[in-house]
Amino acid sequence: MHTQNHFDVIVIGGGPAGLTAGIYLSRARLKTLILNEGTIGGQMVLTHEIANYPGVENINGFQLSNIMKKQAKTFGCEIRSNIMIKDLILDKAVKTVILSDGTIYTSDSVILTPGGRSRTLNVEGEDVFKGKGISYCATCDGDFFKDKEIVVVGGGNSALEECVSLTKYVSKATIVHQFDHFQAFQYAVEEASNHEKINFIMESSIVAFHGNENLESIDIKNLRTGEISNFKTDGVFIFIGYVPNTEFLKDKIKLNQWGEIVVNTDMETDIEGVYAAGDSIAKKYRQITTSVGEATIAAMAASEYLHKKQILQFTKN
Ligand SMILES: Cc1cc2nc3c(=O)[nH]c(=O)nc-3n(C[C@H](O)[C@H](O)[C@H](O)COP(=O)(O)OP(=O)(O)OC[C@H]3O[C@@H](n4cnc5c(N)ncnc54)[C@H](O)[C@@H]3O)c2cc1C
Repeated sequence: MHTQNHFDVIVIGGGPAGLTAGIYLSRARLKTLILNEGTIGGQMVLTHEIANYPGVENINGFQLSNIMKKQAKTFGCEIRSNIMIKDLILDKAVKTVILSDGTIYTSDSVILTPGGRSRTLNVEGEDVFKGKGISYCATCDGDFFKDKEIVVVGGGNSALEECVSLTKYVSKATIVHQFDHFQAFQYAVEEASNHEKINFIMESSIVAFHGNENLESIDIKNLRTGEISNFKTDGVFIFIGYVPNTEFLKDKIKLNQWGEIVVNTDMETDIEGVYAAGDSIAKKYRQITTSVGEATIAAMAASEYLHKKQILQFTKN
């Protein structure tokens, strides 16, 4: 049997952006529901130490998520985790969210914060050593590899630029790239090529990760000869692209060619009453701070939208 529930705002995604929206909306006395597909906290919970969230020292992602969750709940925000969205109707005045368990929720406004995920190599051992030597974020984890020897995977601008930024910490970085040339701007190629700490293994790719507690070595396949060799390393940073979790929004709202949600400076999408924030929107820098900032704007813009709508209805009646 279906249950029906109406909210002022439904927030889709319970990472730092979604939780921030929940805090602001429920504190503004708006009836708010956060619907989250996975574990509450999003990518934050994958982070063993967050050292760059202002005002908070020595905290892991799980702890920071719990604080944000508690804060949202204190103000009355309702949260449902481990749900699966089956369908969405966004282009009507009343928005509808249908879950795979048959539950139907409606709202006057929606904030989309489904975040994203780094593209993975999808090879043996990658899941095992994620956060134990394998990283997808130089800003987040570079500091943990002081004076260590690392490998950087990728051949685009982010791989080359992030590799140069990692040389602040590491003693040596080896870029492993599948082609014999880079798909990056010339300045980035020159900066990396001229750097004394950076070496290159071209036309090659990682085919397996090995270690005990932490990552210790990788198998690299030469794509021209097919030869596989073992390479000792303290860490591997993978920069082969980013995938926004917006597959479920295709044909529902405007996405750009990379599947990122297109928003204006008030975090409005192309549909009235629908806002978006965090890692799933079209932007360059993806951090907890940027996500919570955008979610603040989205929540305030949604509050103003609902306020104006209420006034409009009042005037009409
Ligand atoms: C290993 C790692 C370390 C990092 N370290 C740091 C760091 O130290 N400092 C820093 O500032 N940033 C760090 N980041 C980046 C930071 O975690 C992200 O920028 C931030 O979490 C993005 O927040 P978000 O809320 O937009 O998205 P996410 O954190 O991705 O959260 C999105 C949430 O939405 C849910 N969701 C997805 N699709 C749906 C759907 N269809 N329906 C319902 N829910 C859905 C997801 O399950 C998830 O819970 C790190 C990232 C990684 C991967």
